[in-house]
Amino acid sequence: MGHLRRNILAGNWKLNKTTLEAIDLVNLLKRDLNDINDIDLVVCPPFTALSEVHEILNDSNIALGAQDLYWEDSGAFTGEVSAPLLKDVGVRYVIIGHSERRQFFGETNQTVNNKLKSALKWELTPIVCIGETLQEREANKTFDVIKTQFHESLTGLGKKEIERIVIAYEPVWAIGTGRTATPEQAQEVHKLIRDLLTKAFGQTTNQAVRIQYGGSVKPENIAELMAQDDIDGALVGGASLQHDSFVKIVKNACGLKT
Ligand code: PEP
Repeated sequence: MGHLRRNILAGNWKLNKTTLEAIDLVNLLKRDLNDINDIDLVVCPPFTALSEVHEILNDSNIALGAQDLYWEDSGAFTGEVSAPLLKDVGVRYVIIGHSERRQFFGETNQTVNNKLKSALKWELTPIVCIGETLQEREANKTFDVIKTQFHESLTGLGKKEIERIVIAYEPVWAIGTGRTATPEQAQEVHKLIRDLLTKAFGQTTNQAVRIQYGGSVKPENIAELMAQDDIDGALVGGASLQHDSFVKIVKNACGLKT
């Protein structure tokens, strides 16, 4: 069945790139991707490079994203960055609940929910990450884990808010490991997420929400992933750090020759 969702590809640079390196990379991306208009493109540099990258990407077809935020707007929260501060430097998207934040920084479905509400209040587009660990997959708990993450992370949100989020299904065992989920494995979970969306919020809302796949996406595997019915793009880590591999991913996702 056809749908009207716009595909979306986002690069998560994680803890990489000085400001000068970030500027070099986005200048090349801007040059090579300026004719791509049928897919949404996002780059998520570290906080320190956001402002400079915004100067370059402003008025381009590549949007700026951040990798995290804190849910309070301001106050005595040393070290944190909030939605209004991200807006201030031109950010439009924000990754929430990345598995590295869940693993290393104590992120939970509850903190994801708080962050999601703040992002939506400030009209940032959240990219909410969910996914199972290898241990959970091997114990046949993938569906239960996804269901719990889905419900707890999205608690208290209405249909109109849900329609503004992007969900990234990222199996933890595929992130940074070189081990990609097969298109069938990814599609199976994307379909589950679609069913959860329909049950909780109805078919119209389900049809509006984009679901990205993430986990060792490369130029060689993006096309077969995108060919799946319920995969609307990708969240790309390692392969977004080099301009040539990210450009190839984008072009292969769009079906253009590189
Ligand atoms: C990610 O950071 O979200 C990710 C999927 O990383 P990688 O592409 O390196 O596996």
